[in-house]
Amino acid sequence: MKTFYSPVHLDHDPEVQFEGGQLLPAVEIPVRAEKVRVALQARHIGPIVPPTAFADDTILAVHDAGLVTFLTEAWEAWTKRYGKNAGVAIPSSWPSHDMHADRLGWRRKADIEARLGSYASSTDTPIARGTWAAVREAVNVVLSAAAALKDGEKSVFALTRPPGHHASADVFGGFCYLNNAAIAAAWLVQAGLKPAILDVDYHHGNGTQSIFYQRSDVFFCSLHADPNFAYPHYIGFADERGEGDGEGFNLNLPLPLGTDWARYDEALKFAIGAIKHIGPDVVIVSLGLDTYFEDPIAGMKLKADDYLKMGARLADLHKPVLFVFEGGYCFDALGELAANVLESFQGAA
Ligand SMILES: [Zn+2]
Repeated sequence: MKTFYSPVHLDHDPEVQFEGGQLLPAVEIPVRAEKVRVALQARHIGPIVPPTAFADDTILAVHDAGLVTFLTEAWEAWTKRYGKNAGVAIPSSWPSHDMHADRLGWRRKADIEARLGSYASSTDTPIARGTWAAVREAVNVVLSAAAALKDGEKSVFALTRPPGHHASADVFGGFCYLNNAAIAAAWLVQAGLKPAILDVDYHHGNGTQSIFYQRSDVFFCSLHADPNFAYPHYIGFADERGEGDGEGFNLNLPLPLGTDWARYDEALKFAIGAIKHIGPDVVIVSLGLDTYFEDPIAGMKLKADDYLKMGARLADLHKPVLFVFEGGYCFDALGELAANVLESFQGAA
């Protein structure tokens, strides 16, 4: 299995994030992807290849032009306001529902604090010096992988960083700026294929859901921690089934705190059955590895061997699969977990 990877992700290296009332060391940092890359090489999963460049219109097929422009300008505007040695850009106020103002109008204002608050949904997603370069390159990585799949590869891995599944059309947050998996799905649709997205990250893929919620051409299914106790808190419930044309094309399978492999596999089998019923040409797996029992920001109980079982189970899809790297914060285990999924998928497919 080919892995698409670019060292440009190293440019996004924020020092801190604000969470739980504290300024904490950032957890979505370069070591994550590097640990995975090294493990894939050691386990001989397949060649690691650089991406080719894709034009901006592939992003604009999914994202609001204002968000994209903001992300390209944010760091410069932030340092212009707060000086060359400014810390990372994190919003401190938001346009709330009790303010009688047009939110989009606020975004057109020049003030960096107003723009930041109107595009960001959380304080854990800092913008630093190299953030945009890494975010933009991740799009090249995921689209290069999607193109390889379209050209006949049976499975490919996009080692994207930063992750993407919490980014919606016009809001960034949850460590995500642009939605890599959604951009790949939209590109595959343009290429004449019918993709489905299966999100196995610990957290609900709210951005991906929101992007395709009213569409029937991209089925979205997410297995995740119940939002009653987990981020993103406001979305990801079982009764969210899609809207309009998208009615019936969104499937959420929230899981309880402490979910182990037996419980997880039950939901995964159900998800695979639902995807087969839809009958896509290709499946995009948003591969978050924060379901691991030692993940510091999550609460499920999957063990390292369970990821071998996960890869084998995903082979039951009998479809070409584009794996896209999402979350996972137990740095010392990430490499093994990713290699386990990809190796067993490859062996069973
Ligand atoms: Zn996650």
